[in-house]
Amino acid sequence: MSKEFAVIGLGRFGGSICRELSNEGMDVLAIDKNEDRVNEFKNIASHAVIADSTDEETLKELGIKNIEHVIVAIGDNIQASILTTVILTDLHIKKITVKANNDYHEKILNRIGANQVVHPERDMGKRIAHSIISNNILDYLELSDEYSIVEVKAGKKMAGKSLIDLDIRANYGCNVVAIKQGSDINVSPSAEDLLDEQDVLIVIGGDRDLARFEKHLV
Ligand code: ADP
Repeated sequence: MSKEFAVIGLGRFGGSICRELSNEGMDVLAIDKNEDRVNEFKNIASHAVIADSTDEETLKELGIKNIEHVIVAIGDNIQASILTTVILTDLHIKKITVKANNDYHEKILNRIGANQVVHPERDMGKRIAHSIISNNILDYLELSDEYSIVEVKAGKKMAGKSLIDLDIRANYGCNVVAIKQGSDINVSPSAEDLLDEQDVLIVIGGDRDLARFEKHLV
């Protein structure tokens, strides 16, 4: 049986989540107070309904209580986003993911019981900033305020050297957790093998250490 989701707010972000979940065969209840937006999703989501999510009775009537995971993707209206989240926590929804617009919004959402708070514009901005620092930085993923994972191409600076030669852990305090070669991924890379220019290293570490690593080796 496919998992049941509800997406509240069908703007660019919520709409994209709704499309992707539906493409993956998930059962999605799409909710927006705007009729045009809802019509856009009639043929995409399992159900698409016009409703104001700040109205508890309406959400109850829609059977939101039976849904395992609700995604709140209300854009600029922070008040509506917070109120919707409070109602969902009161209704004991198992998993609530909410899009935050700024750090203050994020703090409140965490306090009132959202299980997952996402900040797509900020995170995407960081990822893109790292990828434009160097063509060899392929991706950047923040794990916490202090730790991240970067995906970097070995490039000319690391090509022909082994992990022992580079000694990334001792020199930069970061760990190479995997090496991708084309479509293959090696999760226990050998310390002696020589790196190829096209190899992709997946490196985990503290932000400051990663910054030093990026500066010297990428
Ligand atoms: P994005 O930045 O993801 O494009 P938008 O602000 O364009 O965000 O979209 C947010 C969506 O949330 C809009 O379609 C809007 O109609 C919907 N929305 C806002 N408040 C409510 C509410 N109280 N109930 C249901 N939908 C809402």
